[in-house]
Amino acid sequence: MSLTERDGARFSAAETLFGQRQSSLEPLDVLKNVYGFPAFRGKQQQVVEHVVAGGDAVVLFPTGAGKSLCFQVPALCREGVGIVVSPLIALMRDQVEALKQLGIRAAALNSSLTREEFVNVRRALAGGELDLLYVTPERIATDGFRETIGNARIALFAIDEAHCVSQWGHDFRPEYRELGRLAELYPDVPRIALTATADPHTREDIIERLALGRGRVFTTSFDRPNIAYEIVERDQPRQQLLRFLSGHKGNSGIVYCLSRAKVEDTAEWLNGQGIRALAYHAGMDRAVRDANQDAFLKEDELCLVATVAFGMGIDKPNVRYVAHLDLPGSVEAYYQETGRAGRDGLPSEVWMAYGMADVIQRRRMIDEGNSPEDIKRIERTKLNALLAICETASCRRQAILAHFGEAHGGGCGNCDTCQKPVETWDGTDAAIKALAAIYRTGERFGTGHVIDVLVGNANEKTERFGHTTMPVFGAGKDIPARTWQSVCRQLLAMGLIRVDHDAFGALKLEPEARAVFKHERQVFFRKDPTRSERRTKKTERSERRSGLSGADGTLFEALRAERTAIARSLGVPPYVVFPDTTLIAFASERPRSRKELLGISGVGQAKLERYGDAFLDIILAHDD
Ligand code: ADP
Ligand code: ZN
Repeated sequence: MSLTERDGARFSAAETLFGQRQSSLEPLDVLKNVYGFPAFRGKQQQVVEHVVAGGDAVVLFPTGAGKSLCFQVPALCREGVGIVVSPLIALMRDQVEALKQLGIRAAALNSSLTREEFVNVRRALAGGELDLLYVTPERIATDGFRETIGNARIALFAIDEAHCVSQWGHDFRPEYRELGRLAELYPDVPRIALTATADPHTREDIIERLALGRGRVFTTSFDRPNIAYEIVERDQPRQQLLRFLSGHKGNSGIVYCLSRAKVEDTAEWLNGQGIRALAYHAGMDRAVRDANQDAFLKEDELCLVATVAFGMGIDKPNVRYVAHLDLPGSVEAYYQETGRAGRDGLPSEVWMAYGMADVIQRRRMIDEGNSPEDIKRIERTKLNALLAICETASCRRQAILAHFGEAHGGGCGNCDTCQKPVETWDGTDAAIKALAAIYRTGERFGTGHVIDVLVGNANEKTERFGHTTMPVFGAGKDIPARTWQSVCRQLLAMGLIRVDHDAFGALKLEPEARAVFKHERQVFFRKDPTRSERRTKKTERSERRSGLSGADGTLFEALRAERTAIARSLGVPPYVVFPDTTLIAFASERPRSRKELLGISGVGQAKLERYGDAFLDIILAHDD
């Protein structure tokens, strides 16, 4: 029996916990007693106070910054039910369950409810017995919804994943447009829109489309210091992936692939390698797809191989790695996808392997897509911005944040280029040779052929086109073909050449190339590490990453086993019981009483009642 069932329906969960009237609840008390957190983080408190006072807000925080509390705490402090708009029916059940674990009275209203469940939600609403109600966007602006709400008092509207309102983002949902009407329909109810999308266009769209012009905008740094970035040149993708994953035994993570077929092949192959992997893409049978998502949320050691169809709204806090086997389409997409790692703030790694083929494929997708020409131009620019980050010789974090208009001093120490500074070489001569090879062969050939010409590879094609007799043939034979690959990618990233899809992927010169030809511009290339160099680096890294050791590590494993058992019996993800951060604190600080347990971040009243003793027993049993 839950706390609220026991204590009757007249007061909210938070009230029953403190025996107070709801209107007098202070945000900090709610934070401590319900969530068990000692303090607000960053600008959370400012947002909470603003919304509790009835103000509208736009919250632009990166993933993991703690956006949920920004609407949940005000919903608990204000009178009435907080209505949360979320596009993710499949995740609502878990979200609601996580809130119930905290003693919060939450429910979801969506198409997956049975008639009986629906009637129960409506009754709870009418009786003022709900703190939070999750609904889908298409439902909210309907007459039916207004009827369901009836005379229930509304504490606030929270619009989660607010970037879905914008066509600029990649998750556009037409239903979100309807949410603009909330301002007219419920003029007295504060509205708070939240997103982790950093793109300025999308931000403006959110404010305009959701009629939040009078709301206060809250932003923070978009840096995710606990995420380590690494981008490598792809040569043997599967072996490279395996090497990356070998540093993640016992962890969960996501491997992104571009195509559905590659998702399935990769998942199958990983299983063959002894790594438990499941697939997820939009073309799969719905039931299987949902089951795989559920497994990912509930298991601690699982690799989910997915297309970008997976990930929005996934709030699993302990995703320890995100790998990309293909280049995303923009820095925004890359940042959003990698941002799914390390929500809990613990060290996490993101890794991408990319090559020239990706660039060509991405360009083709844009060129052959249905977007109007002006949008295509933007998409190409976005792709180039990502390429520049892939090819940078300086700090990746600095380059990424600069893309979002945020200054960072560089030298973050937690990206591959900082950890192993990239050597550069004066490639002006090489650049001129490559540009000449492209130009002399008529700007009609792709990378492979251009490189054959440069290294002097006489084959059927170079002979047939008469390229073997050109002065540029073999002009670059002192440099290995692999380095020429890298040169071509970097010339592309520098905007000196482009790929033309109307001409089957032919490389063409950009006007900027002239300055290089005329020796007016010097060109520096990054030196790609060799295969053996990369291998040593990986071993060093996995040795550095053991968190708890010795007795604390043993205790942590025992606590983790208990958590798994509890989660399984409840049918919820383990982190809903306690996140890793809380278990780590249990293992290292070793609280010895219920009072000391309450002092650990993540232990609130409801969870203390439910699980406190079980975990305390284990901690005491490990006393030495
Ligand atoms: P976001 O929605 O911004 O990605 P979440 O709301 O999911 O982030 O929060 C990320 C993690 O941080 C969650 O595990 C959450 O419980 C935790 N968290 C949020 N605020 C605090 C806080 N003030 N103190 C401690 N942990 C917090
Ligand atoms: Zn760095």
